[in-house]
Amino acid sequence: MKSLSINTDILIVGAGPAGVSLAINLGKRDISAIVVDQKIKENIGYKPCGDALSPNSTRRLYEYSGIKQPYDNEISENLETAHFRPVSDFELSLEFKSQTVDRLKYGQRLLESLEDYSSLEVKTEHKVVGTIINKNQVVGCKVRQKNGKLIDIYAKIVVDCSGVTGIVRRGIPDSTCDKFPKVLKKTETIVSYREIIETPNAHNYQKQMRIEYHDEMPPPGYFWIFSKGEKQLNVGVGWLLSDRNKNENVKKIHETIRKKIFPDAKVVDRAGDTLSGRLPLYSMVCDGFLTCGDAATLVNPISGEGHGPALLSAYYASEVLEKAIRNEDYSEKALWDYNVKIWHEYGYDGGLGIAVHKLLNAVPFSDFSFLFEKGIISQDDVDAIMGSYSVKLPIFQKILKGLRKPKLLLKVAKGLLLAERIKKLSMKYPPNPKRFTKWKEKIKKMEKKKI
Ligand SMILES: Cc1cc2nc3c(=O)[nH]c(=O)nc-3n(C[C@H](O)[C@H](O)[C@H](O)COP(=O)(O)OP(=O)(O)OC[C@H]3O[C@@H](n4cnc5c(N)ncnc54)[C@H](O)[C@@H]3O)c2cc1C
Repeated sequence: MKSLSINTDILIVGAGPAGVSLAINLGKRDISAIVVDQKIKENIGYKPCGDALSPNSTRRLYEYSGIKQPYDNEISENLETAHFRPVSDFELSLEFKSQTVDRLKYGQRLLESLEDYSSLEVKTEHKVVGTIINKNQVVGCKVRQKNGKLIDIYAKIVVDCSGVTGIVRRGIPDSTCDKFPKVLKKTETIVSYREIIETPNAHNYQKQMRIEYHDEMPPPGYFWIFSKGEKQLNVGVGWLLSDRNKNENVKKIHETIRKKIFPDAKVVDRAGDTLSGRLPLYSMVCDGFLTCGDAATLVNPISGEGHGPALLSAYYASEVLEKAIRNEDYSEKALWDYNVKIWHEYGYDGGLGIAVHKLLNAVPFSDFSFLFEKGIISQDDVDAIMGSYSVKLPIFQKILKGLRKPKLLLKVAKGLLLAERIKKLSMKYPPNPKRFTKWKEKIKKMEKKKI
C-alpha cells in the first residue's frame, strides 16, 4: 500500500537544541518547516548530559536571534571555577564562568516558543526510519507515526538534527554523496554515563566544575563533577573508545568512583549515551541536505560540550537555508557556505581535542603532573590554549629548553603542533565543492598523525 505523503520547504529531523534553535530561526524568517521528533512532547529537551552550558554560547545565540538565555529555574547553578585533577595529588584551578542547566525545562521553553511562528509545524512521536533520495538528491524522509503508519514527508531541504545517530545522514548512499562518513567509526565515539545525585548535606563542590582522573578508569577517560546546586550534582564518566578500553563497563566504573567520593548520595536520575569524538564532518551538506549539532559531529572532543555548538550551528544553518529557499537553489553548492562557517568556528576545538586524545593515549596521566609541577605548563598556558584559540605559547620555548623527560615534552609539542595545523587547515576550508577533495586528503592525513 502506498504511504501518505506531505510537503514542506524544510524538514527538521529532531527537536533537541539544534532542531528547536533552527526552527525558531526559520520561523523568524517566515520560512515553512516541519519539525519531527520521536519523543513524546513532554520529554523533548531531556537528554543524558553533563548539563554544563556555556553562557558565552547562549549569549551569542541571544545576540544573533533574540532567543533568551536560560533563566530562573532553567539554571541549576552558576559555576565560577573549573578544576582539573590529572593525578590524585595535583590540581589545576581556573576562574571559569559556566552554568549547569535543567535541560528539560530549557528545552521545553524553546519548544513552546515554536508556537509563535505560523510557518512552523511540530510533529512529536514521529520517528524517521529512512531517507528518501531522488536523482541523487535528498528529497524527504520516511516517518513512522505514533499509530504505526508510515508517512513520507517531502522537503526542498532535509536538515538532520537527530543527534549522534545521524538518522538522515546514515540513509544517504555514497553514490549521492561521498564527502562525509555515514556511520561513525567506533574509535570516533565517546561512551559516557552520568548520574544526577543528591547529597544529604551541602556538598563540597559549590559552583564548581571538576574534571578528574581516577585509577579505576581506562585512559583516556575522565570523571566529571558539576555542581547543580547546594545538594545536587551531575557526575559522570566517559572515554573515547579504543581497542584497549572497548570492553570496559562504563556504568560499573562510574558507580565505583561515585560510591568512593559520594558514599551517602541518593541517585535522582541515571542514564548513559554516546557522543562523537572527532573533527566536524568534512562536509555537512549535499544536494537537498544539511546537518547541525551532534549529527554533524560538533561536540568538543575534550570537554564533551555540544549543547552550545548545536544551538549556534543551527543559527548559522538558518542563514544559509533562507538564502537557498529564497533563490530556489537547494544544491550542495548553494549550501556550501555553511561548511566554511562551521569549520572556521569549530575546527580548532576539534583539532585540539584530537591532539589531546592522542596525547592521553600516548602518555600516562602520571606524567602530566610532572609538566604542571615543574611549571612547564602553567595555569595561564592552559587558560590561553583553551580560550585564545592559539597555541603560540611560551610552552614551546619551555619545551625547547629540553628539561627532563625529553620524550614527554616532544609528545606535548607534537600534540600542540597538530592542533595548530588542523586550525590552519580549518581556516583554509575550500570556498566551494571543487577544491574539497584535496582539502579532505590533507585533513585526513592530520587525523592519522601519530604523536
Ligand atoms: C553523557 C553525556 C554528557 C554530556 N555532557 C554535556 C555537557 O555537559 N555540556 C554540553 O554542552 N554537552 C554535553 N553533552 C552533549 C550534548 O548533550 C549534545 O551535544 C546536545 O544535546 C546536542 O544537541 P542536538 O540537538 O544536536 O542532539 P540531541 O540533543 O541528541 O537531540 C536529538 C533529537 O533528535 C531526536 N531523534 C533522534 N533520532 C530520531 C529519529 N529517528 N526520528 C525522530 N527524531 C529523532 C531525539 O529524540 C532528540 O530529541 C553530553 C552528552 C552526553 C551523552
